[in-house]
Amino acid sequence: QPKIRLEPRNREEAAQRISIAFRAPQENFTIRDFELGKVLGVGSHSKVVRAKKKGTGHVYALKIMDKDYIIKENKVSCAKLERIVLDQLDHPGIVGLYFTFQDARSLYMALESCEGGELFDLISKRGRLSEIEARFYTAEVVEALEYLHGLGLIHCDIKPENLLLTADGHIKVADFGSVRPAKDSRVTVPLNLLSENTRALAGTAAYVPPEILNSSPVSPGNDLWALGCTLYHMLAGASPFKDTSEWLIFQRVISRELIIPEYFSDEASDLIDKLLDMDPTKRLGAGPDGYLALKLHPFFKGIDWHNLRKGSVRKLA
Ligand code: ATP
Repeated sequence: QPKIRLEPRNREEAAQRISIAFRAPQENFTIRDFELGKVLGVGSHSKVVRAKKKGTGHVYALKIMDKDYIIKENKVSCAKLERIVLDQLDHPGIVGLYFTFQDARSLYMALESCEGGELFDLISKRGRLSEIEARFYTAEVVEALEYLHGLGLIHCDIKPENLLLTADGHIKVADFGSVRPAKDSRVTVPLNLLSENTRALAGTAAYVPPEILNSSPVSPGNDLWALGCTLYHMLAGASPFKDTSEWLIFQRVISRELIIPEYFSDEASDLIDKLLDMDPTKRLGAGPDGYLALKLHPFFKGIDWHNLRKGSVRKLA
């Protein structure tokens, strides 16, 4: 696969290459086929807008990426990767991709619309969540990660900003631009996209596990560490490793400077401690008993794993 050159005269050529790489289901829609509503969120290389399809009235979250911008920012491989991976996934805990289309200027991904917004905003609004809520949301993320890891995929950017809420209060994992295959992945991921992608450190400083800072290969343990940070964030209102710069955050991560607030229950503290093990293979969920060991942890007592998506946090509260 030839590299995309970034000189302005080659922009058109590069845009055509993006087009070639985007496979079915690519529709012949244009942006004029949609009634655009409010902006649902803004990412580092996209804007996500609520969009109603004229005629059918179906509502989507339209992720709009400016081609020139993603070429300039070297994010073409992230965009392609997200598209290719989401196309192969089907789980109630993972945001669905319905179709894509494009025009000369932008790429569009029609995603399942998560009307409840980011878990991050819910935590910020409330200050922090109760253990009942945190247990329910964490259990839903555990289920989605079990599915992903079962396929041999590592999300690599689990954090409250990438956990979206549906209108009826269920979690959907979003933003698959950093996803990586583990050694035994069953999902097709073109290797050239990964080599372009691995140049950048995957993930977000406050949720990055220590082994990634030592350039270790990706493993399910990476997401389990980020899950531990996310549970901590739900209960404390902030991530466990915070400081004024990425470098200082990394120092805290490497030395595992973890302060568990007194008001965390013993069960929550123990689960966070076991997810934030410095050895990725020893994190709860990554050991020989896999997800069973994680789901049987006392923090999840009372969770009905078989009917999780039928329940709701409102019923539990
Ligand atoms: P990042 O900076 O994390 O790489 P990105 O450009 O890949 O961002 P996303 O994280 O996918 O973009 O989306 C940006 C924001 O848009 C999300 O944080 C969220 O607030 C909102 N958003 C994304 N997908 C949806 C969706 N399916 N439903 C509702 N809102 C969404």
